[in-house]
Amino acid sequence: MVKEVDGRWWYCCPRCGKKLNPLRAGAVCRGVLARCRGVRRDGSRCGWEGEMVVEPGDWTLEQPSLPA
Ligand SMILES: [Zn+2]
Repeated sequence: MVKEVDGRWWYCCPRCGKKLNPLRAGAVCRGVLARCRGVRRDGSRCGWEGEMVVEPGDWTLEQPSLPA
């Protein structure tokens, strides 16, 4: 999932929301594997592992301004 944090864009873990990788606005990504080392509120490890997918459609009306 793509999220803006303090004016920067991040690919965030779809399970726990931890920031995994910085993005440039408008980035498109496929086939890049990532693992989340986040710790959830109950102390358990997130452990999400998967492909980072950012589609052009992720940069849509909800995020109209694309800071460089
Ligand atoms: Zn996670």
